[in-house]
Amino acid sequence: MTDAELAPTTAPGVMPATPAALPGGVLVPGHGSGPEDTRRHNLSAILTAVHHRPGVTRAELTRLTGLNRSTVLKVVAELVEGELVHEVSPSEHTGRGRPSAHVYPARDVAALAVYPDLDAVTVGVIGLGGSLLGRLRRSTGGHARPDEIIALVGELVSELLASLQEPVVIVGAGCAVPGLVRAADGVVVDAPHMDWHDVPFGAMLSEALGLPVQVRNDARVATVAEAVFGAGRGIADLVYLNGSYSGIGGGAISSGATLRGRDGYGGEFGHTRVDGGREHCHCGRTGCLETEVNLRRLMAALGKDEVDLPDLDKEIADARGRPEVEAELDRQIGILAGAIGDLASIFNPSVVVLGGALGSLVAAEPERVAAAVAADSFAPMSGGLQIVRAALGSRVHLVGAAEVFMLAYLRDPAQLAERVAALRRAA
Ligand SMILES: [Zn+2]
Repeated sequence: MTDAELAPTTAPGVMPATPAALPGGVLVPGHGSGPEDTRRHNLSAILTAVHHRPGVTRAELTRLTGLNRSTVLKVVAELVEGELVHEVSPSEHTGRGRPSAHVYPARDVAALAVYPDLDAVTVGVIGLGGSLLGRLRRSTGGHARPDEIIALVGELVSELLASLQEPVVIVGAGCAVPGLVRAADGVVVDAPHMDWHDVPFGAMLSEALGLPVQVRNDARVATVAEAVFGAGRGIADLVYLNGSYSGIGGGAISSGATLRGRDGYGGEFGHTRVDGGREHCHCGRTGCLETEVNLRRLMAALGKDEVDLPDLDKEIADARGRPEVEAELDRQIGILAGAIGDLASIFNPSVVVLGGALGSLVAAEPERVAAAVAADSFAPMSGGLQIVRAALGSRVHLVGAAEVFMLAYLRDPAQLAERVAALRRAA
């Protein structure tokens, strides 16, 4: 399987036949010069659009992909034949012209998603269309050694698949890990909170599940999820930042492609330095964004040892007006705004999506965050910049991990149809 990053696969000197910002905004299908390349490109463009927008009409597919009506008709028919999509006739006429059929992805084609963390392991089944068909989460009991996590994942996956209402074919697995992950081979180079160093987790997981696996950093898969199915839906240029107990993670989508970097490490925005920071960071530096805009420091101001992230909004709201809380909110919002201003200068995004604890900061003081970003930015970079809260909540890592896996197949739907047919025959 080819690498599943979102980088364009357009051959040098060949312009893509479709706009860079496809539905979902993050996939630029490959496009070469031969008829096979054109066929693969067209299948990819249509299946991707249906996957990102289940129920899209054939008329909308024409508009979204730039392909003409007869090509859309032919390509949809081929995907129906391959049982990757199905069409639903419109139930009523609007009276203006012929109504267009709605196209949905197959209900039974899915990927597993695996999210190991220090305290718990979560597994999910994500269907085409990004729907979460089932999820199980179980405490690690503090046992986060890679082999222990693999054993737990195996148990959870068996239980989860047995519990599903309808049978699915699992084409592979995506995995999100809170640490540095080498994209090419799925090696977790450094996950400090779990004390993993150079762990070949992708190979271990692939062997245990008997499936092809893609492993990525958790914040990077969350960036993809928010860009495709969440708060950044349809946005070709966005920056994502998430705050949790393990620090600040992030990612960027630029002109429809994910920021990746040489090894897949690009996007460690939590380890960019901020003005006046004095705290030592586990990365070996001092004054990183994540040591300054920090959930534990916010907790200390709130007088709490630990708060579940979904409860953080309420904890902050209940503590408003207390001087130490206001001062800490002010301090963190000011530093975060400066960091967003820097990211705006680097990436010129349309939208900055804030997740986890950072979502709670922006929800507590949306105007103050926007004003601070505007005041602390190179003005043309922040004009029209939207700062929004992440939309996918706790399912963001599962949806993103599955999406990162599916991307390779979305590039080559004929290969996906072959694999799905083989799996259905074997079932
Ligand atoms: Zn750092």
